Amino acid sequence: MDKKIKPFETKVWLSSPTMHGPELEYVKEAYETNWMSTVGENIHETERLACEKIGCKYAVALSTGTAALHMAVKLAGVKPGEQVFCSDMTFDATVNPVVYEGGVPVFIDTEYETWNMDPAALEKAFELYPEVKVVVVAHLYGTPGKMDEIREICEKHGAVIIEDAAESLGATYKGVQTGTFGTYNCISFNGNKIITGSSGGMLLTNEEEAANKVRKWSTQSRENAPWYQHEELGYNYRMSNVIAGVVRGQFPYLEEHIAQKKAIYERYKKGLQGLPVKMNPYDKENSEPNFWLSCLLIDPEAMCRQVRGEQEALYISEPGKSCPTEILETLAKYNAEGRPVWKPMHMQPIYRMNGFVTREGNGRAKTNAYIMGGAMGEDGRPLDVGMDIFQRGLCLPSDNKMTAKEQEIVIEIIRGCFE
Ligand SMILES: *Cc1c(COP(=O)(O)O)cnc(C)c1O
Repeated sequence: MDKKIKPFETKVWLSSPTMHGPELEYVKEAYETNWMSTVGENIHETERLACEKIGCKYAVALSTGTAALHMAVKLAGVKPGEQVFCSDMTFDATVNPVVYEGGVPVFIDTEYETWNMDPAALEKAFELYPEVKVVVVAHLYGTPGKMDEIREICEKHGAVIIEDAAESLGATYKGVQTGTFGTYNCISFNGNKIITGSSGGMLLTNEEEAANKVRKWSTQSRENAPWYQHEELGYNYRMSNVIAGVVRGQFPYLEEHIAQKKAIYERYKKGLQGLPVKMNPYDKENSEPNFWLSCLLIDPEAMCRQVRGEQEALYISEPGKSCPTEILETLAKYNAEGRPVWKPMHMQPIYRMNGFVTREGNGRAKTNAYIMGGAMGEDGRPLDVGMDIFQRGLCLPSDNKMTAKEQEIVIEIIRGCFE
């Protein structure tokens, strides 16, 4: 490693909130007019802005994206014991709400072209579980998945799509915004997302009745009576008007953030040329990601040995090679934050008993995260794609506020790992 590189004085983050000013004005307005609860102009306006931007009929502002996904799973009518197909390489908030309702996630393996749900595996899954009626699809790191194929398969099998667009706000597939492909869709305004309210989320739908149900459920399911009257189970999931002020102030900057994130992606792509690595891929013809996180995938031949247990990792450094653990540890030494690629759900101890389907069928029968990591498919590619990407991939510092100069240094640090 080049000894001349000094650690960053201020940390370079993976993805941190980027404020602009109007957020504070809307929060102040809420304070001064005393609309400090879950009712008010900011909530109303934020919902309107979301519908306008994304192109859906109804948006319901909620406390988190996870709450929005929970409401979506309820709307889809998932019953205890019912199996639900879910994206496998995603954040666990995509699938936990299925379990809140007593549903049983069955994980669908990932494809290499967009790192999202593999339509071939989904098709196989319907052969194995023909009774499944709900599919939860995420767009990893802001890159739209293969929505035409996924929609066609779901239609054929009469399954409802819940779209988790928490990471992909502003991304489009064939010119259409993500968050509109499912019957019930979710976005998030968590602190590290492309725009933020510090927290918050929304349920998006074109069904008026669904939107009204969520408005009711998320405010404790109060009936229209002079006293607290309840006929249904309620939740305290509504967004605060203070939080909504932050989101309202952020919305006009969404496109600016996307442009910044795209510039970061392009700079990495150019700066890392010649190294045995690839950037997280997308379908250039059909989709425009929001480039939320820039990621790397190390070529198989260029991986040094790396072993991961449940809580820690070890590697053996080799000239000309590297691994996610080495790069992440090195970045951390220089005060820059990267992150491993999201560990696939089928590899998580909590979901070890759940089904997992690859493009060749029952993934549990042919691969085992703990025993047969390197199993190959009939096409000569790794059978467990999620595990392979997890093994070789990492998320790079992708903060809007990272300067071009800082990014150059990050690139130098990564280059150093392969020396
Ligand atoms: C962030 C995220 C969520 C959850 O959103 P919160 O607002 O943090 O609850 C759900 N799914 C994915 C894929 C996410 O990245």
